[in-house]
Amino acid sequence: MNFTKFPRRKYLQGPTPIEFLPALTKALGNDVKLYIKRDDLLPGAAGGNKTRKLEFCIGDALAKGADTIITCGAVQSNHARLTASWSAKEGLDCHLILEERVKGSYKENASGNNFLFELLGVKSIDVVQGGSDMMAQMNKKADELATAGKKPYIIPGGASNAIGATGYAVCAEETMNQLNEMCIDIDHIIVPSGSAGTHAGMVVGMTGVNANIPISGVNVSRPKTVQEEIVYKLALETAQRLGVKGGISREEIVCFDEYVGPGYSLPTKSMVEAVTFFARTEAILLDPVYSGKAAAGLIDLVRKGHFPKNSNVLFLHTGGSPALYAYMDTFRQE
Ligand SMILES: *Cc1c(COP(=O)(O)O)cnc(C)c1O
Repeated sequence: MNFTKFPRRKYLQGPTPIEFLPALTKALGNDVKLYIKRDDLLPGAAGGNKTRKLEFCIGDALAKGADTIITCGAVQSNHARLTASWSAKEGLDCHLILEERVKGSYKENASGNNFLFELLGVKSIDVVQGGSDMMAQMNKKADELATAGKKPYIIPGGASNAIGATGYAVCAEETMNQLNEMCIDIDHIIVPSGSAGTHAGMVVGMTGVNANIPISGVNVSRPKTVQEEIVYKLALETAQRLGVKGGISREEIVCFDEYVGPGYSLPTKSMVEAVTFFARTEAILLDPVYSGKAAAGLIDLVRKGHFPKNSNVLFLHTGGSPALYAYMDTFRQE
């Protein structure tokens, strides 16, 4: 694939590691070999997947002459933290619109990502009710800032448009190059599926390099078919942007929704188990909202025998560990 046509800032120093997980593999019975792609170790304050997307989104913003970034997210948004992080680094103003998806969940003095927004010097935080039209809220903010003489650029939630998803097509190619180099024959890839750019970008990128590795998403909020349609639509747009031949077929987009629990960001028993299990076997920190629920899915699928014996499964670790500090009570109650 050719990514050189697109405006981009280079935030990665090199590929993120792919590691075998011997202790977790053994603890789950040795039938399936588990590997991990460590996108939790990406650069940007406290790491995580949005850095890959922001290479292209902030690249686009700078190419368009922006001096101000506006984005949105949930109250403990990793995307908002990383957008604030790269904005600080680039000398851009950053304004956040936070959606209180769980009533009463926004606390001005909260720990985790919320504290980091402040530390990273965001210019403003507006908190709006769950279910608000976030694009309308961001447009309103952009109008205000433009009137004040600024040149604002809006990055959608999770940086999940075709521009941001391009960062995960890059990740797919990087992953395939590493697997070839390491001679690891992966049979299945598991990714968290939220605002969908990660999942869509991985599918497009793996198609673009002809990898023939099935990818499944583990949902963090929506029902299966709703999420699959969102991922599919974004994958089609991204494939078109990148000129990936042959297109993407609907059947390639597969999501599991059994691990969402009561809703987005709300803890589940299997998430707590997965986060604790990864910490105590591999000393890898997951998060309560995304990678913890995705890992709960991975663990359950292995236990249920979903993957044939002797399969090699790669888990994409998208980061998010700062959110753990906003959930300490959940873990201490268990
Ligand atoms: C945003 C996020 C995801 C989900 O990625 P999407 O591209 O939004 O689907 C997964 N894990 C973490 C830690 C995230 O912050």
